[in-house]
Order: sequence, then C-alpha cells, then structure tokens
Amino acid sequence: MTIPSSEGATPVMAQWFALKKEQPDALLFFRMGDFFELFFTDAEAAANALDIALTARGTHAEQPIPMCGVPVGTASTYLSRLIKKGFKVAVAEQVESPANRPKGQKGPLARAIVRLITPGTLTEDELLNATQANYILSIIPQAKSKTPHLGIAWIDISTGIFETTSIVQPQLQDLLARVNPSEILAPKDFVLEKHETIKTSLSHLHSFKTAQQELATLFNVNSFNALGDFTQEETIASYELVYYIQKTQSGRIPQLSRPQLQNYQSILAIDPATRSSLEILQNKEGQQDFTLFSSVDHTITAPGARLLAHWLSSPSTKIEQIRAKQEGWIYLQQNTPLLLELRNTLKGSPDLSRSLGRLSLGRGQPRDLSSIRNGLRIARDLAIVLKKIEQETGRSCRLIQTIHQRLLFGDTVLQKLTESLEENPPLKIEEGMMIKEGYDKELDSYRRLRDHSHQIIIALQKKYQEKYNINTLKIKHSNQLGYIIEVTNSNSSKLRDHPDVILRQGTANLSRFTTVELNELSEKILEASMLAAEREKSLFYTLIEHVLQDEQIPILANAMAIIDVLQSCATLYASHHWCVPTLTNDTNFKLKECRHPVVEAAIRHQTTFTPNSCDLSDDKRVMLLTGPNMAGKSTFLRQVALSVILAQSGLPVPAAQADIGIVDHLFSRVGASDDLAHGRSTFMVEMTEAASILHQAGPKSLVVIDEIGRGTSTLDGLAIAWAMLESLHNTIQCRTIFATHFHELVKSTQHLHCLKPFTMKVQEWKNKIIFQYEVIPGAAEHSWGIHVAELAGVPQQTLKRAQYLLDMLENQRNSEQITLPLPHTELENTKQKAVSKEHELLRNMLKKIDPNELTPKQSLNILYELKKIIDK
Ligand code: ADP
Repeated sequence: MTIPSSEGATPVMAQWFALKKEQPDALLFFRMGDFFELFFTDAEAAANALDIALTARGTHAEQPIPMCGVPVGTASTYLSRLIKKGFKVAVAEQVESPANRPKGQKGPLARAIVRLITPGTLTEDELLNATQANYILSIIPQAKSKTPHLGIAWIDISTGIFETTSIVQPQLQDLLARVNPSEILAPKDFVLEKHETIKTSLSHLHSFKTAQQELATLFNVNSFNALGDFTQEETIASYELVYYIQKTQSGRIPQLSRPQLQNYQSILAIDPATRSSLEILQNKEGQQDFTLFSSVDHTITAPGARLLAHWLSSPSTKIEQIRAKQEGWIYLQQNTPLLLELRNTLKGSPDLSRSLGRLSLGRGQPRDLSSIRNGLRIARDLAIVLKKIEQETGRSCRLIQTIHQRLLFGDTVLQKLTESLEENPPLKIEEGMMIKEGYDKELDSYRRLRDHSHQIIIALQKKYQEKYNINTLKIKHSNQLGYIIEVTNSNSSKLRDHPDVILRQGTANLSRFTTVELNELSEKILEASMLAAEREKSLFYTLIEHVLQDEQIPILANAMAIIDVLQSCATLYASHHWCVPTLTNDTNFKLKECRHPVVEAAIRHQTTFTPNSCDLSDDKRVMLLTGPNMAGKSTFLRQVALSVILAQSGLPVPAAQADIGIVDHLFSRVGASDDLAHGRSTFMVEMTEAASILHQAGPKSLVVIDEIGRGTSTLDGLAIAWAMLESLHNTIQCRTIFATHFHELVKSTQHLHCLKPFTMKVQEWKNKIIFQYEVIPGAAEHSWGIHVAELAGVPQQTLKRAQYLLDMLENQRNSEQITLPLPHTELENTKQKAVSKEHELLRNMLKKIDPNELTPKQSLNILYELKKIIDK
C-alpha cells in the first residue's frame, strides 16, 4: 500500500504525517510511551525486514492503520538490523514533558525528529563494527567537462577521520573498493555503476563560495585553503558531507579532524577485482577470518585494529613513509620483555576516538568520559614503557619519539577527570552518581540535604509507628503522590479519625495518608534531589566541554593506535620468521623462501608450508608458470602479490628475504568466477579483467594472472593467452607471473628473452602424482587433469573413458589435426578403436615415405596399399 493523504487524521496521526513528510525516505520510529511505533508502509517494510508482527492501530480514511513496534529499551538491535538491510531510520522523540507543558494545553505531547540514522552516520558501539571504520563518502564531478575530475571526501563520524582526494572517473571503482564507504552522497544524476552501497542523492549542491566559507568557520581558519590545496570539487564534496551530517544529527557536527588531502599517486593502486581476489580485509564471504588482515593482526585495541586495516588497504608508494613505519616496529622488537610490557599496558585500553565522537554529538554517556580518563592514564603508562625501551637499548627512533610526546598530551583533562569523575560511573546520565564527592561544594550540599532527609524519613517512620501503634506502617515514595504513609486497610481506622492525618488514596488492600509534616519534608527532599541531579548534570556537561576543547586528545588517541599497530608488527616479526623488506625505487624484485600467510596458518596442523623463491628482476621479469591443478600455482601467485601489499603497507613480509622495487599498480587475477549478478559469464569477467590490465598496467606494475583463456575453446584460449603474454612482455614490460595450463605456451614464447618458464614440481609414484609445492625452472610435461579428477573422487568408469579420449586427442594433436571425439556409446567405442588403429597405420606408412625419392610405379603401389587399409 502507499501512504494515504493526511486528511481527517487524529491529532497523534496528524503529527506522524507531518514528521513523515520531513523524512519521506526514512522509516519513522515514532515514540509512543515505551515503544517506537511504525505505521503504514513503514510498518509493512519493518515488520518484513525484522520478522516481527504486523498489527493495526485504529483506522484512517476508514481503513485499519498497519502498525508494528519495537521496545525503546532494545531498539538498537532492531535499528542495527534495519541499517544493515539498507534502510534509513528517522527517530521521533517526545520533546515536551507533561510537567512543563503550559496549563490547559490539550492534544498530544510535541514530537520532533531528533536524529536521522543512516548507514554512514552511526556512532553507537552496538551499531558499529569495532575493528572497521565506517565511512560516508561524497562525490562531486567537475562541472561542464567531458572527462571530469571528481572531488571526493569521506568522513568517519564515529572517530572524526576526514580525508579528501581528486581522481578521474576510471579510478572511482578502485577508490570505492579501498575506502569501502557504507553510504555515498552524489548528485542526483550521477550514475554509480556496479555499486551496492546505499546512495543518497543530493538534489541541491552548495556553491563553492558557500562551501569555502562554511568550512573555514567550522575549522576556525581565515580560508579553507589554509588547511590544504583543495580543488573546488573537493571543497564542495567536503561541505556537502558536513552539511548532510549536520542535518542527520539535528544540527550538531561531530568533532572532525582537519581534512587530510590524499595524493592519489602516493598510494598503491589496487582495483576492486584484485582486492577481492587477494582477500585483504574480507574473505569471499565478507568475513574477516582467513584474510591477510587476520593473519597479521596482533593488535590489542579496536582503534589499533582499524588503523592496521587502513594501512593494509592503502599501501604506500613512498619509500620514506614505509621506512618510517618499519623503523618504528624494528625499534620496538629489540627488547622482548619490554615489548610484552607494552602489549600488557595496552590491554583494557578503551576506544578513545569513538567515545570522543559520541561526546561531540551530544550522545555521550558517563562511561564515555571514564573511557577518556582511563585512556589518558594508559597513554601515560605507555609513555613510561617507551622511555624504558629508550633507556635500556640506548637508542631512539624518530617516529617513536613523536608518539612519546603525543602520549603525554591532555594532562589537564586527565587531572580534571581524575578529580571529578567516579571511578566506575553508571551507564546513563539519569542514574546520577557520576561526580565524586568533594569535587563540587554545591553538589555536596544538595546531596547532604537529600541523603540526610532520607535519614529523617526513616526516623519519622519509626515515630509514626509508635505514635499510631502500627508496626507495619511504612513511609514510601510514589511518583504520583510523593512521600506517603502506607498501612494495610485493617490498620487504616487507627489513622482515619486522627486530625493530623489526611487520607490520600485507598486501594483494595492498602490505604495511603499524609501529614503536613511529611508534606513539607517531602518537598524539601524532592527539591534537594532535583537540585543535586541538575547540578550533577551541569557539571557533567562542563566536563564534556572541557574534554572537547582539548584539540590534542584526538592526536593522542591516534598516537595510541599507531603504537598498537607498531607493536603488532613487532610481535609478528618476532614470532613467525618474517623479514624486514628492502624497498627501492627501481624494478628489482626478489623474494627468498616466501610463504602465503593465510594458507600457512590454515594447514599448520596437518603439514608445513613449502616456501618458494621468486625473482622478477629485469631480464627475468616475466615468469611463465605451468603445472597441474592443485599443485600450488595460485597460492604462489597470491603470496607474491600479498608480499607487495605487506611490504608497501610498512609491515614485515613472510619470507627469508624480500627486495622489492616499489610497485605502483597491482593486478591480481586469480580464481575468477562468474559475475552472474551483473550478467557476465566467467569468460566475460576474465576478458574484462584482462582488458583492464592491458589498458592500465605500466612498467612499475606487478601483474599476477592465473589461467587466462579458460572459459572458451582451447585454441581461442591459447591464442588469447599467448597474445596477452606477448603484450605484457613486449609492450607493457612489467613484472609478471603468468600461470597457465597451456603447456604449448612454453615452446611458443621461447623468443621472449625476458620470459623464464617455471613449473610446479610433482613426483610420479605408482602412476599417481605427489604435489611438492615447489616452483622449479622448466615446463610441465602433463597437466595431470585426470589424476586430479581421481583425487576429487570422479568415478573410475568416467576416468577410464577420459584417459582413452585423452590418448586419442593427443594422437590427433600430434598429427596436427584436432577433431571432436564421438559420443560415448559401446558401439561407437568399438568403431572409434578401429578408426584410431587405421589412422595409426596410415600415419606410420606415410611417415616412412619421401615423395621425392619415389618412382611413379612405387607411388601407385603405395596408393593401392593405403586403399587396402581403409577398405579392411
Ligand atoms: P592450483 O592453483 O595449482 O590449483 P592451489 O594454489 O589452489 O593450487 O593449491 C592447492 C592446495 O595446495 C592449497 O589449498 C594448499 O592446501 C596446498 N598448497 C599450496 N601451496 C602450498 C605450499 N607452498 N605448501 C604447502 N601446501 C600448499
């Protein structure tokens, strides 16, 4: 159904219609008591997505109103499910309380949308993945240009990270795969090909001038360009993001770091297909296990894990940056006991950045403040350990020194929070008891009055019990009546006739009374509690302001994340025989005894991984790798590509030695699969990817390709693979590993002088093959496909038939003629045997003849002989 017109709506429903009009694209969570209710199409969509009951509430235009609801207390789990399914949710709260409503005013309490929750604007831990950044990204194309540049900006509002870059259209998919935003803002008419991320259309763009002015005000600078040399489009993209965030957060802007301008050239280009084939941060199922990330992650904190993911997803092409990171962890691993101490100190470290994010959006709770305090304490302890390392090793490291200085930031804030905040504050502000006794005289005096009054109440209860001779008399507090005397009905007669006592309420079992004395006391207590609560809240908000004003705390939080990643690298280096790669600006490429970190970990319990070396330097820059299926070809290809990513991310490499000339663009095509979602067959996917490599690769690229030309006929496939190999070798001249099952390629590419053939070593034993997983010079003699089929459990009968057909095809191929085998029937089997025998005889006879040596008579005789063979 569609949403009907609001005409004739009840007052509450009229409010709903008005709010829905403000956010027509979002599901409206409409607060009613302890529930968020949804109506009409929202209710239908949410009930379906959440698998909850769809009911009805009253009628509108004589039709029942579909409704479903979720309890306020557990709303976040439902929200998280809806957001994951791509919905946006507008939360409408009651913004008026019955207590402060003008007397005599009728109608429902006022409600307003207090927040628009979209996938890119989340801040709650329950809605976010602790180890993944959550970006919202905006794209602004250059106006009136045929090949427009795109200005891109992205922000993680949960941590304040803010970055921008400029690219050309063909680089967009690479960038989106790297940043992996959960929401994209783009002009209405901007077409986003092949992207599942939720897109929010911008119907009206702000002008460059407005964007510049607003951003300058936000960052408190004279001109936005004081922060970097931003293009017009980057500036507008940045402001559109800020504007959208402000709109979704009811006017608030989170604390954002100053925008960092990213130079596209300084990051290793990795296209989406390569990223997914290498399973860097996510495996094929979209999970984090069995990924490059999981195999190298020894971080202890969530911000550390997020930063490591950031390093791995954007490896650098700048040697100085990579070396600085390397120096950091090489320095930390020198002293194992102190490295351990560093790790232990990091344990229990809170997520400072996300707490800061929530505080800056006015969504912070007492535990966010205590996180800041605890984090600052841990930062100091980390600084002490770093000092110890410097003292014990007698060495220093530039990066570590900078981190050390930053860990000491935020001194006054730490002091303030230590003095003021309870060690273990409650979850919610409303619970009170966040501020320490002794911190604020005014609060202490209200609290004393409040608590002292409690004692007076207890004394009064005792007094009344004796005075009226009722042992069971109680003084209780009720929200409606305040403090009251409560007795059972059997005792109520003792009070009813008493002049000092006033009856307030009677129920089936109980009677409630009050006295003037109790009333006065009640008011005093209430006032003291209220004043205490108000004072405490105001102190709490002042503390938040204090924290937010200190611009150094986000820098300190970042320093903690860096130290966590560096210790993770040091731990990895120390524990698993990893090496420090040497990076150069040439096209050198040598890996000695390299391993695949994920496969090595996966097979650890059954067998050991066989390391392999690889030299792609200059005159050996193209490696042609043949070998049977399951022999370890794709593992080898991937481990070489992963080593580049690790090395250029500043991490150790799983090898005995690694000398890598910086790679500017990495292409990996290993294990292509159908892309049925976009209507492309395996072959089409393969060819699209081949095209993109041939168009984009350059002399500093690394290309690893597996099995090009599988999905078409043998000759087609062979021809394509051959031509592609020549292009890579002769024209592009990049470092390449080309794995193929076309053995013929080895012979036909002998003239390519920088190409070296290699094969996977296999051993034959009793007609079986044993994989050695070793890459050796040379070419494979067989493809062993039938043996692999046997290993996979293909039935013997089929295997025998395949072997027979293979022999026949090989014979035919030797006679330079390929024909398709006949269908598989017994009769045809026999026929075929005969044909093949006849063929063999003819072949043998013809082989012996040299036509130049024959007399006409001899020729005629031979012709008779040949005729005889076929007439048999
Ligand atoms: P191919 O690409 O040649 O079909 P794979 O690379 O997929 O072969 O390897 C098949 C399996 O062999 C892997 O899943 C792994 O279990 C094992 N394997 C591959 N390389 C090695 C190695 N170097 N050492 C030990 N086992 C390996």
